[in-house]
Amino acid sequence: MPAAGHEQELDPSNSGAVANTPQVVKQKSETTSKNKQETKATKKESPNSFPTNVRSLISTGMLDGVPVKYVSAAREELRGIIKGSGYLCGCKKCNYSKALNAYEFERHANCKSKHPNNHIYFDNGKTIYQIVQELKSTPESMLFDTIQTVFGAPINQKAFRYWKESYQAATRELQRIYGKE
Ligand SMILES: [Zn+2]
Repeated sequence: MPAAGHEQELDPSNSGAVANTPQVVKQKSETTSKNKQETKATKKESPNSFPTNVRSLISTGMLDGVPVKYVSAAREELRGIIKGSGYLCGCKKCNYSKALNAYEFERHANCKSKHPNNHIYFDNGKTIYQIVQELKSTPESMLFDTIQTVFGAPINQKAFRYWKESYQAATRELQRIYGKE
């Protein structure tokens, strides 16, 4: 089954639902794996392939216009607004005119860390990293509802509908390829 010579890399961003279920994807291509996969599949709901990371979440555009803040270790806050695949920075210099990536946004808050997404908060007190983890463990049947509420602020409905349609289309395609349960 695996290609000879080199291991096939699974890119979580486009390998789809099956590949994004950690228990399933981490398996090695050995004879026992097939049985394991089957028992797993019967136990759990359809795997949820979204979102794989903060970036893939933001780049859907669903969060465009949602306010965030970078909170430093000293509890100082820098406001921002999600835009495109980054953050419109609310520092005096940028004044929401410039979209920065998470690292740049952090720099404008005079901070430096390895994981800026752990310090970027929504108004409901959750970090964007936390929310991605939460969404990852949300069963697919609840995913759409959860996305509507988890940020504690209204999301971009147009982008949401667009994303939802493509998500459902991708899910159907995966079911066609891999079969339903
Ligand atoms: Zn700035």
